Amino acid sequence: MVAPHSALRQQAQHFSEISSVITPLVDVLARPLRDLRMSVIDRCNFRCTYCMPLKSPNGDSKFLTMRELLSDAEIERLVEAFVSLGVDKIRLTGGEPLLRPGLACLIERIARISGVADLALITNGILLPQMAQDLADAGLGRITVSLDSLDEQVFAKRRAAGARSGGCLKASRLLKRPASLD
Ligand code: SF4
Repeated sequence: MVAPHSALRQQAQHFSEISSVITPLVDVLARPLRDLRMSVIDRCNFRCTYCMPLKSPNGDSKFLTMRELLSDAEIERLVEAFVSLGVDKIRLTGGEPLLRPGLACLIERIARISGVADLALITNGILLPQMAQDLADAGLGRITVSLDSLDEQVFAKRRAAGARSGGCLKASRLLKRPASLD
């Protein structure tokens, strides 16, 4: 269930305020927590049956408005707070993160934060051909393309029609390193 955006905002604000007085994050075995996965948007251009079934609010296209999402400044502030606690790997996700307006600007802001060693993005890949260059220029270091299958028929059964591995390959060339395919 998605918490009301006002509650999310308050939690984000509270966390960024207390981060300066708490110790680095560790798990129950005292291992440092270095990875942070941040959702930058809830909407998606697919409706995978296991994620956004048609009878669910998201499957019925009921998403947060742009105004309700955390702003770039709020996300930047949260990342800074987590970095101060030992996080150095940021992975942006959604929904489908490439649908967030101004994503390249957000990536640029996060890439500039001292202490972010690895900035990655997980995507269904469908918009990569037109966006990969801007994302690479903004400072994105790594992309994971998540696809259920390269078989069109299997793909269609999951209501995830449209994506092709071409987006993954283009991103790989632009980032000058392999793009992973989940
Ligand atoms: S592509 Fe990802 S975010 Fe979009 S509906 Fe499928 S599993 Fe969910």
